[in-house]
Amino acid sequence: MLKVVTDKRHWGETIPTSWVHLEALLMKIKERQKVLQKTVLWDTLSSKSDQQILEFEGEEDMTTALKFFNNIGVILFTTSSESIILDVQWFVNAFKHIITDESHAKLDMVKNFKDWDNFNKNGILPNKLVTEIWKLDICKEFKYMEYTKDLICHMINLGMIAEMEKDEKYYVPCMNKQKYDISVLKKCICSSTLCFIFQYLPLVIFHRLVARCISKEGWRIWEHNDQTNTDDTNYCLFHTAAILQDKDGVKILIGISENKNKKLTYRYSIEIQGFVLQGKEMQAQFTRRKREKIIDHINDLTSCFGANYDLTYRIGYRCSIAPFSDTPTSHIILETADECNPCREGVDINHLRSFWMVDAASEDNAVDNNEEKHKKNVDQDTVAQRTIEHADKPNTLTSNDEQRDGYEENSNPPTGNDEESQPLTSIDEQRAGYEENSDPPAGKDEESQHIHHFMASYSSSG
Ligand SMILES: [Zn+2]
Repeated sequence: MLKVVTDKRHWGETIPTSWVHLEALLMKIKERQKVLQKTVLWDTLSSKSDQQILEFEGEEDMTTALKFFNNIGVILFTTSSESIILDVQWFVNAFKHIITDESHAKLDMVKNFKDWDNFNKNGILPNKLVTEIWKLDICKEFKYMEYTKDLICHMINLGMIAEMEKDEKYYVPCMNKQKYDISVLKKCICSSTLCFIFQYLPLVIFHRLVARCISKEGWRIWEHNDQTNTDDTNYCLFHTAAILQDKDGVKILIGISENKNKKLTYRYSIEIQGFVLQGKEMQAQFTRRKREKIIDHINDLTSCFGANYDLTYRIGYRCSIAPFSDTPTSHIILETADECNPCREGVDINHLRSFWMVDAASEDNAVDNNEEKHKKNVDQDTVAQRTIEHADKPNTLTSNDEQRDGYEENSNPPTGNDEESQPLTSIDEQRAGYEENSDPPAGKDEESQHIHHFMASYSSSG
């Protein structure tokens, strides 16, 4: 905590003495147990009336302190869960044991190998497989089983997994290796494709966005993938795209795309597209509402950039209306453009925008402001970058570096280096992405800073 206090992000903030003592108490409890119920903590604190140093005005006061400890990475805590994860590294390891097949020995021990095999393909995780893995000898000593509910609850909340069927089945996006096939969109009427353009794009943001839309918006996974034949593969869930549907009948595809043409300015994008089956009418009010929800989540997931978060993405559209492709031949144009340069063609930007914006014409000001802000930020890019680096430090503080490293296996960032960059769809690269200690390429300090950001963001949402 000392390091946080000295960090400039927290300058001017006074940390009450009681908080410092609470942190010490939590760390002491951590020696005995990994998880603590909030009510138990409150009972302990309120009964210790003789200890002035731990005096809190009320439970609310204690909750505020816990939120702060969560934000700086000391514990995992969210108001949507009753439990506090005291040992973050232990929590990370519990997840690691699920997603890595580090030894054949482990696989041999998993009784239901077929479940594991399917999970390793499509990311669909039956609850009984979680139990089986955490019961293995290599896991026993860590007592994950005792805290299954708490662990799962925090994993859902952090967007590491999504619940498909209550207490029965989960979706783990980072495990999905199924190749996207454009034919799932056959006989569908598509909207324009809205693009969130990033300068760098760790897959982990995309994965968490999908998990959150399932968990927090209650959107269901569309089951219409009729070209496959094994169990659970009828779900429209792929390595680079997920198709979800709300009660209104409009399906929404959330995809990730890397433009391999090195000359293109906008290389990495998360893209959304609405569609309905032929014979149905696409109602723009539904796609617009989904855009708002998705923007909220993306903002939240990238909020670790603090004041610089405008730098994290720009908004654009695919130059033509066509079913989503993760290896696109179309181009991205900014929402201020009126023509596509590579196509040497004019585009009806208002039409493209109309699927996502209420009244394209009346929102010109908003667009200009957005782009102006972006330009201003680009001018200050060097300064901003320095600020990001500074802001990064508190997130990797207090011996949490190891915890952050634990997440790297899930991230699969495009390197930004042309020679080294590989398609998102390459299975080899996906595998590499899951290997433990897969460090970012040497000399990519900028990227590695960002990776740490996203890793850190795992424990800062709440
Ligand atoms: Zn074009």
